[in-house]
Amino acid sequence: MAFQAALAALAHECSTCQRCPLAQGRQQVVVSRGNPLARLMLIGEAPGAQEDELGQPFVGRSGQLLDQLLAAAGLDSNQDAYICNGVKCRPPGNRKPTALELAACRPWLQHQIALVQPQVLVLVGATALQAVLGLKGPISQLRGQWQFFEGRACMPIFHPAYLLRNGSSQPGRPRDLTRADLVAVREHLLALR
Ligand code: SF4
Repeated sequence: MAFQAALAALAHECSTCQRCPLAQGRQQVVVSRGNPLARLMLIGEAPGAQEDELGQPFVGRSGQLLDQLLAAAGLDSNQDAYICNGVKCRPPGNRKPTALELAACRPWLQHQIALVQPQVLVLVGATALQAVLGLKGPISQLRGQWQFFEGRACMPIFHPAYLLRNGSSQPGRPRDLTRADLVAVREHLLALR
């Protein structure tokens, strides 16, 4: 009960946040979806138009593809994962969040990680990698390589928005690589049981 109350308090405090200029253009603060009791946390970049409208992360076309990729790896996005973003408010025109915006929103992300206590993080796209680990670099080189954050294994993967533009599922192509990365995540979770 205390856990649910803490989650509700976080969502309430976050919903009135004015820490960075993104507060001015948002319809609503997009905190999370999925299962806060999950052992897996997915962290993306920022809400897009549909997320801003519906108040949940990864519910547009990118989110649907992410759900499909997770399902193909044997993971249910709502049961097996807690999903959030590096920044909780939509950047205008869907631009990348700035380093200052990521830093301003970081305490919320840190609070979510502290509450949910995931065993494994999936960092969805290069901006999430920067937001969590401070790592900058081509996601094409960093994806699929386990990293660590506060003792937790972190798997960087391509952002599904990129995969929507690169639709081939042929072996070795980005979608196939992402599928393999998510299978590695599932196997890691199974090994941790
Ligand atoms: S993006 Fe984060 S820090 Fe900026 S206003 Fe929204 S919740 Fe606050």
